[in-house]
Amino acid sequence: MPGRVIPFVNLKPMHSQVKTEMLSVFSKVYDSNWFILGNHLESFENNFADYNDVKYTCGVSNGFNALFLALKSLGIKEGDDVIVPSNTFIATAFAVLMTGANVVFAEPDITTYNITGESVVKVLTKRTKAVIPVHLYGQPCQMKDIIEVAMNNKLFIVEDNAQAVGASYRNKNTGTFGDIAGISFYPSKNLGAFGDAGAIITNNKELYEKVKLLRNYGATSKYNHDVLGYNMRLDELQAAFLSVKLKYLDEWTNDRQNIAEIYIQMLNGIGDIELPLIAEDVTHVFHLFVIRTKYRSELQKFLLAHGIETLIHYPKPLNMQHPFASIKNVKLPIAEEIAATCLSLPLWPGMAANQINFVCKKIKSFFNKK
Ligand SMILES: *Cc1c(COP(=O)(O)O)cnc(C)c1O
Repeated sequence: MPGRVIPFVNLKPMHSQVKTEMLSVFSKVYDSNWFILGNHLESFENNFADYNDVKYTCGVSNGFNALFLALKSLGIKEGDDVIVPSNTFIATAFAVLMTGANVVFAEPDITTYNITGESVVKVLTKRTKAVIPVHLYGQPCQMKDIIEVAMNNKLFIVEDNAQAVGASYRNKNTGTFGDIAGISFYPSKNLGAFGDAGAIITNNKELYEKVKLLRNYGATSKYNHDVLGYNMRLDELQAAFLSVKLKYLDEWTNDRQNIAEIYIQMLNGIGDIELPLIAEDVTHVFHLFVIRTKYRSELQKFLLAHGIETLIHYPKPLNMQHPFASIKNVKLPIAEEIAATCLSLPLWPGMAANQINFVCKKIKSFFNKK
């Protein structure tokens, strides 16, 4: 066993910083004996809307349900085509399948890992109703071009902002460019709950109200159900926890950005490593720090042997996953290239300088022997 172990992610530094406050809000919710659809949810929704400078937030049970309800609120249904990036977490694509609509994959740019206006145009069909730009790894998509394509082709935009809470494009937060956005507060996301949680944000009152209805059994008032709804609510305890953590999000994002900056400086010019390329008009919030190398598998094994955990986001292009078997013959060379070469390095708010140095030192020694 290696002497020191560097995990892929460690939530401890963040969570010890807020422990006293967390226990105090836990106590408040505990004593209130009110656990679903109450003041803590409402106040988190207001806080999160303010944070993003957007009119409405509706808390829901997780990021997947946020995307599903966002698509439902727009009336996406069987027979529609929805454009999804070929390299993303499978939830983005499954949310589309859940509505009965078809997934059409758009390839990302090989330097930013995000879909572009150009890649969206390439896969348009007569049935395309919406596009889901994912701000992958924490880097905002180039929204100007995507918005232009959407306007010219009457497409809805549902942003998947699961990995980029707090990021901005041209000084406006991601998640505020499209019709509606889905967000995940999965524990390891940049703003993470203590369990599953999610939200939609939008400036459109009608969409907000539809999601609000759908998340709670379609109930317009107690025991009046106008539409087929679901139980996809965000509970009081998670909402209360999220309000506490939201106050620290910018500080933690700053830490992520500083760590990324050190990685970029120390790994520049090492072997064949491709470092993240940050577009000029964005702030990247480094949910993940992803490098690429043709020696990926060897490097990952070498690092693990030295106690350094890394992950691959994502190892298998979506068209090769079984639920997409019917579109298996679609060629997605860029997604395949990323899947074969990408490696996510350890990064978390509170990661110590000597830990970052150790990771870089080991990567350098791997490439020295090449
Ligand atoms: C995490 C994630 C989701 C799903 O969020 P859950 O809260 O786990 O359901 C959706 N899209 C992307 C890009 C994600 O990273």
